Amino acid sequence: MSIKDNLHNIKSELPEGVTLVAVSKTKPNGDILEAYEAGQRVFGENKVQEMVQKWEELPKDIEWHMIGHLQRNKVKYMAEFVSLVHGVDSLKLLKEIDKQAEKHNRVIPCLLQMHIAEEDTKFGLDATELEELLLSDEFKSMKNVEIKGLMGMATFTSDEAQIRKEFAQLKSIFDGLQKKLPGISILSMGMSGDYAIAIEEGSTMVRIGSSIFGTRNYP
Ligand SMILES: *Cc1c(COP(=O)(O)O)cnc(C)c1O
Repeated sequence: MSIKDNLHNIKSELPEGVTLVAVSKTKPNGDILEAYEAGQRVFGENKVQEMVQKWEELPKDIEWHMIGHLQRNKVKYMAEFVSLVHGVDSLKLLKEIDKQAEKHNRVIPCLLQMHIAEEDTKFGLDATELEELLLSDEFKSMKNVEIKGLMGMATFTSDEAQIRKEFAQLKSIFDGLQKKLPGISILSMGMSGDYAIAIEEGSTMVRIGSSIFGTRNYP
């Protein structure tokens, strides 16, 4: 199946209001252009350098999402153009994004990453840390970042009940947060293996790579 066919099949399964982020990490520009020509405009990358290079080389109406774990010293390279940062998991990182956004005279939309998986290898805040971040004076004084919602990754397991439980937990944190921050609208959860469950549990944004572009070959 071609990238175009994969995209059409996935899009036909997505309810209205669910945004598809085509995760193009490790994939060449030719693959991205194939998806672009099929109408896809939102792409996700997990390495800043790679995203910058693709941004320079590819059409300028592409929206680039940073979906991976982000180091503070890399924020400056993407501050000019990044459309959404999914993996914000500390006040320090948010401060750096705010600072770099200010240099470019813009507001960078961000998602706070929550830790919902059982593995402790996955990054993210717990509910207490989320609360602390949002209540901090430092956060309240930031003018160049905007929190648009939450992101999370479920445990890598074939146990569907476990995945569903974790997504449901994230959705409930999201609903609680929406009462305090009515402006938030994005709940980024679901990848190739689990997006159907994520959508049933209330996802509004899915990040899908291998089901569109095929399996990745890491060097
Ligand atoms: C790679 C990646 C994805 C996409 O994974 P697939 O299983 O290929 O769909 C989604 N989210 C994040 C954070 C990723 O790093």
